[in-house]
Amino acid sequence: AAACRRYPAQAIVDLKTLRDNMRHLVSVAGDGAAVMGVVKADAYGHGLLPAALAALAGGATWLGTAQSHEALLLRRLGIGPDRARILTWVYNGAAAPFDELIEADIDVSVGSLDGIDALAAAARRVGRPARVHVKCDTGFGRNGFTPAAFDQALAKLAPLAHEGVFDIVGQWSHLAVADSPDVPEFVASTDRQIEAFHDFTRRMRAAGIPPRIRHLANTAATLDRPEIHFELVRPGVGLYGYEPDPAMGTPGDYKLRPAMTLQAQLGTVKDVEAGHGISYGRTYLTPDSTSTAIVPLGYADGIHRSASGFDMAGAKHVEKLGGPVRVMTARGPRLYRVSGRVCMDQFIIDLHGSAAELDVHEGDTVELFGPGRGEMFAEPTADDWARAADTISYEVFTCLRNRIPRLYE
Ligand code: PLP
Repeated sequence: AAACRRYPAQAIVDLKTLRDNMRHLVSVAGDGAAVMGVVKADAYGHGLLPAALAALAGGATWLGTAQSHEALLLRRLGIGPDRARILTWVYNGAAAPFDELIEADIDVSVGSLDGIDALAAAARRVGRPARVHVKCDTGFGRNGFTPAAFDQALAKLAPLAHEGVFDIVGQWSHLAVADSPDVPEFVASTDRQIEAFHDFTRRMRAAGIPPRIRHLANTAATLDRPEIHFELVRPGVGLYGYEPDPAMGTPGDYKLRPAMTLQAQLGTVKDVEAGHGISYGRTYLTPDSTSTAIVPLGYADGIHRSASGFDMAGAKHVEKLGGPVRVMTARGPRLYRVSGRVCMDQFIIDLHGSAAELDVHEGDTVELFGPGRGEMFAEPTADDWARAADTISYEVFTCLRNRIPRLYE
């Protein structure tokens, strides 16, 4: 911990927690379905390679990335085809580095006619079949063939499979709503997507290219929809210890535990008078004489400016609650919130009392979020920051910049 003090702040990632979360997801998937650890976007900000290794140690046999460079990097970092199959969704379409991906034994998604042509040309150049997962748009409206365009796709895919240019490994799609069993519209929309998915499968079978591995389930469906586990599930956020939608319950309800703790060391602690303007725009006036403390993290670190806290009347009438923090004082933890605007490199908290009396000092550890216990705001989690910033936990951790060192334990 002493080494941490070189940095104003650090994100501590608990590798055992990542592994345990994956173990749990593997047990939920059961014997029938393999599990892909989704490690795109630098493993949701947790660090690509450490998270990938932890996921594999927890029983994942597949890794998934959105961008091809992260898939290639995993191979270059030593995760060979004997250790994990890797799928990349390929967001650069026909311009993707297909030759390199085929050579590195990486499975690729195709969801456009141009993509099919580019991939076929690469497979012919490399002299090896491309391993293809056919992306179907079952209602998300993002990537993949629509039902109307699928005959044209099948007319291209089937001959390529029969010539041995493509190995049609899989069929896949993505769900649009985190499944909330108590919201009937969401359940109905997921049901419609599942029906459409089955229809795509039937059409692939009829065209003589049956998918061997079908996959549709994200974390929410892995946890809540065993009937669509098929041969493979693709949990992302669950690996990092969060449920997709706090409305589904707390991480603990799903036997998941947040793996990242974001903490910093307090900067300047000082006494100020009542009515003192705090930070840019004076959007927070101290209601009483008080002490304030600096938390050395700002929007340049990925802390959302929308998590600022406003009390413009300085009358304890808080107009907008800022993101929560927990200061670890010698007398135990104390909960505070961002007071005023989040700045580029720091934000300020009103300690609502005298720092000397509260025993709060420069250098004290302050935690923005951590494993929590699922009690909202008692031990802040990324969900609490998401609520304060009007976003989702995914954005809270994927936005954390590399200026914050990731420390692994
Ligand atoms: N599959 C695809 C195609 C995705 O884009 C994602 C992430 O957004 C996932 C699976 C994992 O989703 P989640 O993190 O909700 O489990």
